[in-house]
Formats: sequence, structure tokens, C-alpha cells
Amino acid sequence: MATIQFIDALSHKDGVEEATRLFSDTFHEDCDGVWAAPGRVNLIGEHTDYNAGLCLPIALPHRTFVALKPRSDTHVRVVSSISPAAVAVADLAGLQAEGVKGWAAYPVGVAWALRQAGFEQVSGFDAAFVSCVPLGSGLSSSAAMTCSTALALDDVYGLGYGSSDAGRVTLIDAAMKSENDMAGASTGGLDQNASLRCTPGHALLLDCRPELTALENVSQQLFDLDKYNLELLVVDTQAPHQLNDGQYAQRRATCEAAARTLGVANLRVVSDRIAKSDDPFQSLKETLDRLPDETMKKRVRHVVTEIQRVRSFVHAFAQGDIAEAGRLFNASHDSLAADYQVTVPELDIAVDVARGNGAYGARMTGGGFGGSIIALVDKGRSQEVAGLIAREFTKQDFHAPRALAAYAAASGSREA
Ligand code: ADP
Ligand code: MG
Repeated sequence: MATIQFIDALSHKDGVEEATRLFSDTFHEDCDGVWAAPGRVNLIGEHTDYNAGLCLPIALPHRTFVALKPRSDTHVRVVSSISPAAVAVADLAGLQAEGVKGWAAYPVGVAWALRQAGFEQVSGFDAAFVSCVPLGSGLSSSAAMTCSTALALDDVYGLGYGSSDAGRVTLIDAAMKSENDMAGASTGGLDQNASLRCTPGHALLLDCRPELTALENVSQQLFDLDKYNLELLVVDTQAPHQLNDGQYAQRRATCEAAARTLGVANLRVVSDRIAKSDDPFQSLKETLDRLPDETMKKRVRHVVTEIQRVRSFVHAFAQGDIAEAGRLFNASHDSLAADYQVTVPELDIAVDVARGNGAYGARMTGGGFGGSIIALVDKGRSQEVAGLIAREFTKQDFHAPRALAAYAAASGSREA
């Protein structure tokens, strides 16, 4: 069987030590502290966040660690373990949206967004990032970076939002604004909420309706894989993943246009109406009949049915109906492939191999166009299923995939 590399999570000790060392080697002084925030996998509910829908992420044990120290001026210097010799610099004074290029836009954008939100005390900083979250793999390395930065700035500038779940929503807003307006990478909030609000052993049922308050929009759902003798295998296909090449923005724009045509604020309203109707199947058909073109009908069908699948998955998993939970994984993927059209051959083939080799269900996770798949398998089978996917990838002449063992881990926190 083909071998496949499993990416281990950085331990607390190693993450703190490596980030502290990178900081002192780069800036020749000690940091003030170390903070960390996780990547995530979304169990189900894909491309629903910007449609005011439902999604269900867990935080990964894989985290981005940042060693940080505030500065007395408005300058920012950042370094990453990915390229430890290259220090990126920026100045917060007079900074405009999209005024920083390259990866530094993510951390600099968080400070900029906090200042834009009125936190004028937030000023410059030096920071060193060390991460084990694969980049651009649909596992949210970007949110791990912006959310760890937000926690650090919250602490060193004494904002006081990091210590409560409701307060963290303010940090999530800054992390989102950084991605949307500084990095120019459109994001709907799922990743940042997962990174800062998940709790160990639980999936975060996130309701993205904008009218809900922070106290109303999440609920913690038990996600205990051990209880059902299961493992959640993540396979990073290593297919090139590019969300900011316009595809994501196009999907968003189509959904917004559909909502306008249907005379509603967002597609969630439509989804709820259909779910509550006497004959949801007929109601969906009538809704789709009102839309002008085939592409829009497909996009709307995905969003409407995917929101309902999140509810069904939560129910099935809580009941211990793993066959049904797996079926919903499969239906989600198939809808993303056929109707939302965001899969690539690597994702479809990885999913097929997992399904053909005993997975209860398998689906792509994240925005798509590359990235990762998840598969629900019996305990002890992850290695074998991952190896079979790697073997098929060799046959297909794809990049070698990588794997991770996922479970519901904790949200971001101060580490040292
Ligand atoms: P994902 O969030 O799924 O990993 P994105 O395209 O949203 O994919 O974000 C990936 C980008 O985030 C990278 O291209 C890089 O700019 C930035 N990034 C994330 N983590 C790091 C890191 N540890 N070091 C440097 N840049 C990072
Ligand atoms: Mg991202």
C-alpha cells in the first residue's frame, strides 16, 4: 500500500518553544507572550455561511502559534516559520484597505481592522508565527493566523474581548475584516467562528443569520467520535486551492442575485420557508421555477438542501445513526460537485476511494476548488483508507496527498 504522511499537531510545548525562538532569533529580544488558534474542518454546511445558513465546524488540534510583542510606534514586523529569513514590514499609520501585499496582509489586517473599529490604542507589533495547519488546504490556516493575532492584540493592548465567548465576536469581526478587506480573500465567518468559539468534544452549530446576537447564533453539539468507535480522517489532496481567483466571489454573487429575484434578504429565508412547507419537494421546485437560468437554479438547490442537511446531520449523529450521518456527508459532497460545481477531480476521486473502502460517508470540506476531504471511518481504519487514496493518486498522476487525524479540539487561547 502507498504510504501517506500524517501531519501531527504541534504540541503546546513545541509550539510555544518554536514561536518564542523564532521571535528572539528574528527580533533579538524576548516576546511578551505566545497565543495560538486552530484550523478547522467543517463537518457539513458548505457555502452556507454567506447565505445566512447553518454550518457545523470542529476546531482541529492543529494550531498556529504566534509569539508577539507590542511596539511603541505604528510599525509592524512579521515573520513565519514557512520562510524564517524573510521579515515583512508594514505601517499602520495611514494604511488603506488592501494596502499590504502577501501573507503579511492577514496579521497586519487584524490590527488595522481593530483600529478601524475604534480601538485606537491598538498600535504596532512584532510577531513570529509557527504553524502546523497546512496552508491553502481548506483547513483554514488563514483564520488560524488572523484569530491567533486577534487574541494576542486583544491581550497586549488590554481590549478584554478574548476572555468570553460573546466578547470573542468582536475579535472574529476584526479577523474577518482582515481577510475580506486587507487580504482580499472573501470569507463568510465560518472559519473565524470555529477558530475562536469551538469547545473540545463538540461541533459548533453556527447559525449565520445576521440578525442573531452572539448569544443566539451558536450551540455546542456533542461530537464524540470515541463513543461510536469512529475516526474522522482528513486527506489534504494537495490540489492547488485558490479561493481568490474569482470563483468564490462568483458563487456569492449568484446567491445574492437569486435572493433578490426571489424578493428575500438571503437564501436562508427561502430554505426555512421550504423546510416548513407541507410539501418541501414541491416547494423547492416552485422556488427554482422562479429563477431565470439553470446555473442559478443549481446554486440555490445546493444552498437550500445543504442547510437542511446540517440539521439532519446534527440529529442523526446525536441519535447515533452513523449510517444516516454518512449518507448526509455523501449527499453534501454530491451536491457540491453537481450543483455548486466547486469540486475538482482530486476531491471527487478521494471521496470515491473512501466510500468504496468502508467509509460511512465522505465529502470535500472548505471552499473547494482543491483542498481537503473528510471521511467518517471505523476506529483504526484511517491509515488504511488514507493509503488507498494515496495509491489511487499515484495512479492518476496527482500530487501526493497528506493526511490528518481530526477530532473536536479547543478554540484559540493564550499559551504562554
Ligand atoms: P486556508 O485558509 O484554507 O489555508 P487560504 O487561501 O484562505 O487557505 O489562506 C492561506 C494563506 O494564508 C496563505 O497563502 C498565506 O498567505 C496565509 N497564511 C496562513 N498561515 C500562514 C503561515 N503560517 N505563514 C505564512 N502565511 C500564512
Ligand atoms: Mg482561509
